[in-house]
Amino acid sequence: MAKQTDVIELQKNFALLIDGKLVETKNFLRVINPATEQVFAHCPEADQTHLNAAVSAARQALDAWSSKSYEERANYIQQLAMLLREHRDFLASLLTQEQGKPLSQSVAEIDRGASQSEGIAGIEIPIETLVDDEERYIELQYRPLGIVGIITPWNAPVNLALGPLVSALYTGNTVILKPSPYTPLTTLKMGELMREIFPAGVINFLAGGDELGHEMTKHPEINKISFTGSVETGKKVMASAAGTLKRVTLELGGNDPAIILEDVDPEAVAKKIFFAAFVNSGQVCMAVKRIYAHEEIYEEFCSALAKEAKNAKYGNGLDPENHLGPIQNKMQFNKVVGILEDTKKIGAHFLSGGTVPNTPGYFFPPTLVTDIDENSRLVQEEQFGPIVPILKYKDVEDAIRRANNTLYGLSGSVWSSDRKRATKIAKRLRVGTAWVNQHRATSAYVPFGGAKESGIGRQYSILGLKGYMEPEVLSVVK
Ligand code: NAD
Repeated sequence: MAKQTDVIELQKNFALLIDGKLVETKNFLRVINPATEQVFAHCPEADQTHLNAAVSAARQALDAWSSKSYEERANYIQQLAMLLREHRDFLASLLTQEQGKPLSQSVAEIDRGASQSEGIAGIEIPIETLVDDEERYIELQYRPLGIVGIITPWNAPVNLALGPLVSALYTGNTVILKPSPYTPLTTLKMGELMREIFPAGVINFLAGGDELGHEMTKHPEINKISFTGSVETGKKVMASAAGTLKRVTLELGGNDPAIILEDVDPEAVAKKIFFAAFVNSGQVCMAVKRIYAHEEIYEEFCSALAKEAKNAKYGNGLDPENHLGPIQNKMQFNKVVGILEDTKKIGAHFLSGGTVPNTPGYFFPPTLVTDIDENSRLVQEEQFGPIVPILKYKDVEDAIRRANNTLYGLSGSVWSSDRKRATKIAKRLRVGTAWVNQHRATSAYVPFGGAKESGIGRQYSILGLKGYMEPEVLSVVK
């Protein structure tokens, strides 16, 4: 556990990382602890000059870094994973203070980031021989793209930075990373720690607002943008990146359905679904955001889920008693409250929650809603908060149609005691990942990303890594 003094010391010392140096700035971002609504740290804010300096450092470092072998680069990444584990408690405490999630989930995020990094750096990217006959030899190899700009959101700032960061570095690119202005601190601290490992210029960490993100997407010297965030911003990123034909990977929002068949054990499934829907107070791209439960088990399943919701304690994430923290920021809090008000206005039924406490902090109780119209905001929009609709169906064909009737297509799941039947149904979900009897299961070796408007490209696995590289054909006449 981080000592209080560590946390205080840390708060005083945030800096950008450019060309291997810690850089202070004239301007600052105020970082608010969502559990108290108090400004708890000031974070240096980068401007265009810092961005240009970072780009020039990344360009300078590129040749030497991309000339290293995969094994050499994997070695750096293994050191990074060790460093994360060494400073885990300290980073986790900071993460909880800026993001709000319970400390145990912050610890898990750092641990996961470390093991995922090792996983990515263990993937082989072989040169592929396409033809080798009497006339010709043709091979396909993959080269680094150059400088990768990484832009991250506020819900899982460590994990969502490390995935693209490690993928870009391992494949031989240099990097400029910009976290969300709501949660820049843990990322900057990781940069400071990583400075001890990586050669100057290979990694550059700039905190800044949306405008800095926009400048990155149009910068002529940045070759690729790996963006994680909302669909709306993703579209702007793609439009801006088109000006220089940058490669893009877009990991965007979701409105994940979970289809519960009539043969499940309602209590056992409710426990798992509750976690998949409410972890990090629902602020997870691949959280369950719509539940379709068969009418035969509907009542029993709803009661079991309501029991979970009523037992879940919410409050300051630093208190180990709490299972859920606050919503991360005021903008998102207001959005979720707006959805709640709309849900009340249309006369839906509340199984749990539904009343926001009048105390400091962006707290919102775990809220379950039934008897709600399919066309309501709660069902159609990505709520990204702790309020979830449970919808009834009679015919599974109808459930599949409703589950697919959305512009989102990140992931989804089907729950049944008949695995074969559930698998057949899961295959019909139009999503990047369809799970059976689980939700939110990802790995460094399995591609993850969105279908439809939930994204473009994939992260993780060899498929994800190839997104950080240019395929090049060599064709030789014999
Ligand atoms: P957001 O789109 O508002 O912001 C994300 C990042 O983009 C921030 O760093 C922000 O400063 C930057 N940004 C904003 N405007 C920009 C612009 N015009 N050009 C370039 N950068 C810009 O998203 P958010 O509210 O921080 O995050 C929540 C969203 O992220 C949700 O929709 C969630 O589903 C999604 N998300 C997706 C995944 C995934 O893997 N698919 C993972 C986590 C979160």
